[in-house]
Amino acid sequence: MNETLAPIATLPTLDFNDVAVAFESKSDKQLAERYLLFRAMNNPTLTKLGTSLLAWAIRRRLPIKGLVKATIFKQFCGGETIEECLPVVAELGKANVKSILDYSVEGEGNEASFDSVVEKTLQAIELSKREKLISFAVFKMTGIARFGLLEKVSAAQTLSSGEVAEWARVKARLRKICDAALEADLPVMIDAEESWIQAAIDSLADEMMERYNKHKPLVYNTIQLYRKDRLAFLKASFAKAEKGGYYLGAKLVRGAYMEKERERAAMMGYPSPIHDAKEATDRDFNLAIEFCVERIDRIGICAGTHNEESSLKLARLVAEKGLPLNHPRVHFSQLYGMGDHISYNLAKAGFNVAKYVPYGEVKFVLPYLIRRAQENTAVAGYASRELRLLIAERQRRKATKR
Ligand SMILES: Cc1cc2nc3c(=O)[nH]c(=O)nc-3n(C[C@H](O)[C@H](O)[C@H](O)COP(=O)(O)OP(=O)(O)OC[C@H]3O[C@@H](n4cnc5c(N)ncnc54)[C@H](O)[C@@H]3O)c2cc1C
Repeated sequence: MNETLAPIATLPTLDFNDVAVAFESKSDKQLAERYLLFRAMNNPTLTKLGTSLLAWAIRRRLPIKGLVKATIFKQFCGGETIEECLPVVAELGKANVKSILDYSVEGEGNEASFDSVVEKTLQAIELSKREKLISFAVFKMTGIARFGLLEKVSAAQTLSSGEVAEWARVKARLRKICDAALEADLPVMIDAEESWIQAAIDSLADEMMERYNKHKPLVYNTIQLYRKDRLAFLKASFAKAEKGGYYLGAKLVRGAYMEKERERAAMMGYPSPIHDAKEATDRDFNLAIEFCVERIDRIGICAGTHNEESSLKLARLVAEKGLPLNHPRVHFSQLYGMGDHISYNLAKAGFNVAKYVPYGEVKFVLPYLIRRAQENTAVAGYASRELRLLIAERQRRKATKR
């Protein structure tokens, strides 16, 4: 631990409804724009129509980039390039919220696109040497490896000689990223993806953790607690790390591919790997938090969530255990443009918070933007929460100006 740690503290007042803190960095104009966008996204029909039109217009190369960039892109992305993200990084940093630059381009799945993802990740790592507001690097394995190859490795199928060479190139890319992270002393997170490619991702992550996590958690695997088997997996990963004498790095998330997972399981006739009810996902997520905090001496945890209850739970556990609130192995993370009431209030209380700041060319981050829009419809529930908070802040500002 270094000398910048806050003193051991009891939990300070933590109120996620404190909208003044949540939106302190937003001007009235920015609030109004955000309100209009969330109001539109709150309407599922409009969102469905809007996202289909968007995809169609981009495919037809219609000149709508400016419009997209000024609206939904601006809300959820930092910019088209790392340089364009820097003002966003600085703005978040003013509130002590750090950034995780996330190259969100869903690549073409060829060797050139894999190498380009490695390059972008290396650039973000390099930048972190002079920009201390960057606290993690992140990437997806499908950004640097072919989906079909990950699927084949996960199913323990025999690889052709060409695929053996391809797999060796994947490992070399991974090591290049981890070596750079080690050199820059910047932890790196590997996102979790579909269950049928996750075994390969897990085995690569384990290999990297064993190699790079001897002195601190440098490499973090991601654990999706919507899967029925992942709490046990977390415990087994910890046992392996303990036995191997390395730190476990665990980003905990609920999981982003629920519908796809269920559809595939139903179509192929195997039991769904996903919990049957949200309550079971919530229970496992919170149990995973407890498990990690109890073993914080050997685990680095990053809670990637917009769930208020889980965020509060982790905050309480840290305080109750008497840990410094900014303990170097405890982080909270939300996506840029979402859950600011959680990020800003946690940061103000003294916790380590880092937001994923996605970036990439507008046309290439479109799938990411469409997912965010869908997640924010009234059906999925986030937009109404964001709207409620935005309305509260606008009313508060109006009242204070009277
Ligand atoms: C910083 C960050 C990083 C992330 N990284 C990843 C990643 O690497 N891989 C990944 O897959 N996702 C990732 N996610 C997305 C994450 O998995 C969730 O989809 C998203 O954050 C919503 O979950 P929540 O905890 O925020 O909140 P909540 O709104 O409380 O939970 C919603 C989630 O609960 C689960 N759920 C909903 N309904 C049901 C049901 N009926 N039965 C069972 N479970 C249900 C689903 O996972 C759903 O996404 C990340 C999210 C963040 C904030």
